[in-house]
Amino acid sequence: MSFSAEEFKQQFPLFAEGENRELVYLDNAATTQKPQVVIDAVRDFYLHSNANTHRSSHRLARRATEMVEETRRRAARFLNAASEREVIFARGATEALNLLAYSLCNELQSGDEIVLSTAEHHANIVPWQMAAQRRGLTLRYVPHTAGVPQFDRLEEVLGERTRIVSLTGGSNALGLRPDLEDIARQLRGRDLFWIVDAAQLAAHETVDVQRIGCDFLVCSAHKFYGPSGIGLLWGREALLEAMPPWQGGGEMIAEVDLYSSTYAELPHKFEAGTSPLAAIAGLGAALDFLADWDRDAMAKHEQQLLQQLHGEIASLPGLRLYSQPQHNLGILAFAPVSGSAADLMHWLDEKDIAVRVGHHCAQPLLRAAGETATVRASLAAYNTEADVLAFVDALREYLALED
Ligand code: PLP
Repeated sequence: MSFSAEEFKQQFPLFAEGENRELVYLDNAATTQKPQVVIDAVRDFYLHSNANTHRSSHRLARRATEMVEETRRRAARFLNAASEREVIFARGATEALNLLAYSLCNELQSGDEIVLSTAEHHANIVPWQMAAQRRGLTLRYVPHTAGVPQFDRLEEVLGERTRIVSLTGGSNALGLRPDLEDIARQLRGRDLFWIVDAAQLAAHETVDVQRIGCDFLVCSAHKFYGPSGIGLLWGREALLEAMPPWQGGGEMIAEVDLYSSTYAELPHKFEAGTSPLAAIAGLGAALDFLADWDRDAMAKHEQQLLQQLHGEIASLPGLRLYSQPQHNLGILAFAPVSGSAADLMHWLDEKDIAVRVGHHCAQPLLRAAGETATVRASLAAYNTEADVLAFVDALREYLALED
């Protein structure tokens, strides 16, 4: 199969709409646009199937329940999970990581260690800090150079007390994609839990949890053309079975008594309360949508744009470049040498080019690099060579004015 970015882009109505027809959208690491099929699925759920799941048995409730469980089966296929019992719906990667930080750390002893990296999103730092404070745990970080983790030196921070290693599958601030095979090699034979934050990775590559060999993996649908408010937590069945639930409430119980309760079977044990049902319908549509495209060809297209972007930028003076074209999921990150990153973002916005400026929820990384904000241009499969050229031309014009 081959891939046409133009044909892919036609599936996204936002780009066909009046004021967005010329939009160069390069803020995909924050969230991607939604194809028509996803928008339709969310709307159709409310129009034709709206009812709460599992609790009642009338026609609409049965339809909604079947939709949720069918989406779970598709999500299991999307991640190559061994069973749909291993797939938990969460609000997003953030909620999934909070769930893990709560449930896994519950069993840990004071002095046990959790290993993170300086390239983590705050969602993969703060929940562990909170758990560490609660349980007297120690956080350790993969060795780094000016904030950029050296994942090949992970072993140096692994010890007798390491219980959890929670690392990015791709950094949202730099695009840096660690070699997961090498991480698996370094972790082999150790008695610990390995978590992969695939919030960015899942948007750009096929994710195969069995091939990666991790214990848990999290992602968010809105990063891969699905709706916001829904994400996935995958975990090995035996581990999920052994973990205590995170939130309590309806749906996650088998039996409730006045002073104690028994919990539901997997996966419902971890899904307290009413799930975001319309978002789950949209996620199902996004998974079907992705299955219709050649993901390897999509990734190749994104990589070509990324190389082009880095190639053009490398020749521009007046920028401090932080991203590298190699082992990168699709992100260009830099700071202007003079003037503020925010001024540059506003200039680009005037030209209908959307990029993001800030710390990208990765303050430790930026601080180590000596920056408070960078400009981030992040790619998706609907971006084209014309987008890259428009961005580079606008940047060139801005830098000439600043000179
Ligand atoms: N992890 C990474 C690498 C991210 O890029 C993000 C969002 O930008 C998250 C976690 C959190 O995802 P969400 O806000 O969808 O929960």
